[in-house]
Amino acid sequence: MSKPATTITADVAVVGGSVAGSSAAAVLAAAGLEVVLIERETHFRDRVRGESIHPWGVSQLQALGLADVVRSAGAQPLPFTRAYTQRVPSEPSNWESIDPRLPSEWAIYHPTLQTALLEHAQRSGVRILHPARVTHLQRERAPQLEISTEQGRVSVQARLVVGADGRHSAARRWIGANTIHDPVHHQVGGCLLDEVELADDTFHVANFEGGQVLLFPQGNGRARTYLLVLEPFADRLRGRQHVAEYIAQCAGVFPVGALQNARAAGPLAFFPNADVWSDRLHAGRVVLIGDAAGANDPSGGHGLSLCFRDVRELRDQLLNTSDWDRALPAYAKQRMAYYSVLRTYMQWMVPLYIGVGPEADARRARNARASQADPTLGGFGRLLAYGPDGLTADEAARRHVLGEDLDG
Ligand SMILES: Cc1cc2nc3c(=O)[nH]c(=O)nc-3n(C[C@H](O)[C@H](O)[C@H](O)COP(=O)(O)OP(=O)(O)OC[C@H]3O[C@@H](n4cnc5c(N)ncnc54)[C@H](O)[C@@H]3O)c2cc1C
Repeated sequence: MSKPATTITADVAVVGGSVAGSSAAAVLAAAGLEVVLIERETHFRDRVRGESIHPWGVSQLQALGLADVVRSAGAQPLPFTRAYTQRVPSEPSNWESIDPRLPSEWAIYHPTLQTALLEHAQRSGVRILHPARVTHLQRERAPQLEISTEQGRVSVQARLVVGADGRHSAARRWIGANTIHDPVHHQVGGCLLDEVELADDTFHVANFEGGQVLLFPQGNGRARTYLLVLEPFADRLRGRQHVAEYIAQCAGVFPVGALQNARAAGPLAFFPNADVWSDRLHAGRVVLIGDAAGANDPSGGHGLSLCFRDVRELRDQLLNTSDWDRALPAYAKQRMAYYSVLRTYMQWMVPLYIGVGPEADARRARNARASQADPTLGGFGRLLAYGPDGLTADEAARRHVLGEDLDG
């Protein structure tokens, strides 16, 4: 006969202890709730994920009281942005010139971010089970999780389950939601590089015919690079044996010599750009956050900021009322609204980043004229600074952003 599972009870059980899960667990524990977090990994490794946090995401961290945790773990502020055309740098722009109160962009190695937030959750009083894998959810009024650990089976009974188990979320299935995969437009590749000789306080971005390179320094010559290219191009660079070609492609868009000694400090991987999202965000006392709720096109780099925005929304709704049956739909309504702005906006912009040919050139030229006429683009030109709240991504906004409402 198998040993009966140990049962733990808590106010909140969080499935997944990465960025969204650890942040949620920490702030809910800090608010006085009893929280258990279950994470299947023993150590976090480089999976080629998000390492840049836009100013609007840093503002969410500040609102959550987590900014010091992330900054002292080594987040590198990037107050400047520099664009390159045919290797020639533009004048750098500065976030402060938009608004002196704005935090800057931050860059941080993803496993360092995950570890810092998980350790902070532990210090905040969260009970952490890891390595441990949630294998089953019984969705009753007080939901119950079945967990497999190295020491045997554990069962957790909680008033609320937070599904923060990422893009391939099982919690999404447990609540009976459908996963929607948007059409793939291009691929997003990434590799961490050492010996990069570009300014360490600047986000560097360069367009080339058919793609874009984004480079986020992390200090001491280390930088995360992302390469946005169409599928056939990505197919030629996939795999460890193509690292040198990947680096050469990145080197070719920056000033001569900037990446001449650069070498890989982690894996090279490519991912489809498309959003993957859930058509519902809660059922009973189970709710989804972060990529489990909806993973935005990584080309925009909003995923981490979205995690922090979700945590803030969920925390505020839960602490606002003792009636959690009302808090969860209220969270879901807000999440659907701000996420759909990001999803729609990225669909407008993606052909501008990567499109090739005369039609794509004409679209880019129209968008550039629109930005000159209205640098805020009706608020969408400030999305990285202030985030999606308060924006409506309707047809009029699309025409304004793309310059289709300009005369001539
Ligand atoms: C190529 C690429 C580049 C990106 N670049 C950026 C960027 O520059 N800036 C940005 O903001 N975002 C970026 N993103 C997006 C960002 O990385 C994600 O949005 C973010 O990491 C999602 O975090 P999460 O905590 O929701 O999910 P995850 O990090 O996927 O965490 C899910 C966790 O749940 C655990 N888990 C899963 N199932 C179970 C289970 N059954 N039991 C226990 N544990 C479980 C997993 O081990 C994992 O730790 C990028 C993404 C990609 C793919």
